[in-house]
Amino acid sequence: MTNYRDILRRLALGNEVGFRELEELVALVGDERVLDYVRGLAREVRTEWFGNKVFIRGLVEISNRCSGGCYYCGLRAENCKVTRYELSDDEVMESCRVGYGLGLRSFVLQGGERKSITEQTARVVRRIKEEMPDVAVTLSLGEQSRETYECWRMAGADRYLLRHESATPEHYATLHPERMVWEERVACLGVLAELGYQIGAGFMVGTPGQTTAMLAHEVEFLAEMAPQMVGIGPFIPQSDTPLGNMPRGSVEQTLMMLSLVRIALPKALMPSTTALATTAEQGTHLGILSGANVVMPNITPAQYRASYAIYDGKKSSGTEAAEGLEKLVRELRAIGYEATFGRGDHPDFQR
Ligand code: SAM
Ligand code: SF4
Repeated sequence: MTNYRDILRRLALGNEVGFRELEELVALVGDERVLDYVRGLAREVRTEWFGNKVFIRGLVEISNRCSGGCYYCGLRAENCKVTRYELSDDEVMESCRVGYGLGLRSFVLQGGERKSITEQTARVVRRIKEEMPDVAVTLSLGEQSRETYECWRMAGADRYLLRHESATPEHYATLHPERMVWEERVACLGVLAELGYQIGAGFMVGTPGQTTAMLAHEVEFLAEMAPQMVGIGPFIPQSDTPLGNMPRGSVEQTLMMLSLVRIALPKALMPSTTALATTAEQGTHLGILSGANVVMPNITPAQYRASYAIYDGKKSSGTEAAEGLEKLVRELRAIGYEATFGRGDHPDFQR
């Protein structure tokens, strides 16, 4: 039997771990004892840096218009079945004001990828920062030019989420049309880091064709890149996409990957994702108990939420009201965690 404790200890200390060892570790996901041990160690590692704090960020899904063609996502340009929307500047501001009123000091503006949104996004980021100077703004609007990223950074954006989706270029190519190129996506993360953003990478677990070796490579790849944020969630099929008939990613494998990446990157900010909450009963808690330390309740105006249909059955828990947020705080407390509404910067970016 693999000496998994020794491998994990070395991973936690940043010492050499061979690729084969990582692969063996990932493959032990079916062994409940091993998974429990890995998750426990992930919690310990996370506690060393963050105590029992869980950072809460308000998520605003600003538009579902997208020129991307990702085979897994319901917002892809080729999907004519989705009703497209775009929040006005005032609607984005109002969403943030509501969140601010509830105490939130960290907002994530997420949406489809389009090249035409440079000016309007800069405008709204500027407005948020002027009106609420004590908040952190994270953008997640896909691949853009250096000039656009620079413009948004100058406007006040602090962080950028751009999952690399797969660390294996050949696998990435099976999930995207030719116009989407792995090297370009990864280069964007480099540009964002150069511009001083806190960057977020990440991937889905269980995309069709993903192997254990690829998952092991994800750990290596992320340990090497050391982004400040990492988003990991299960793949969930969306019926109007080319991968709509494929099986969803496994909860256990997602928890295993969350924990391994946490152990490799102790200081990272890692959400317990909506995809996990959608896939598993108590998914948010499972993620937190596997080393995640961020939750992003949805504060998008309720009438738009159903249209942000990236996968089937997506949860968009009603946290628009104070009661929703209070419930989240209470539930986290019940499992021993303290919800924190501050900016929630990465330890290396504390101001
Ligand atoms: N358009 C931006 C981008 O792609 O970076 C941001 C929005 S996109 C909807 C955010 C993330 O959703 C993607 O990075 C992807 O990993 C995830 N996602 C998309 N379709 C998914 C699916 N079917 N199952 C699980 N996650 C999915
Ligand atoms: Fe567009 Fe992002 Fe969905 Fe790809 S994952 S289709 S870029 S919204």
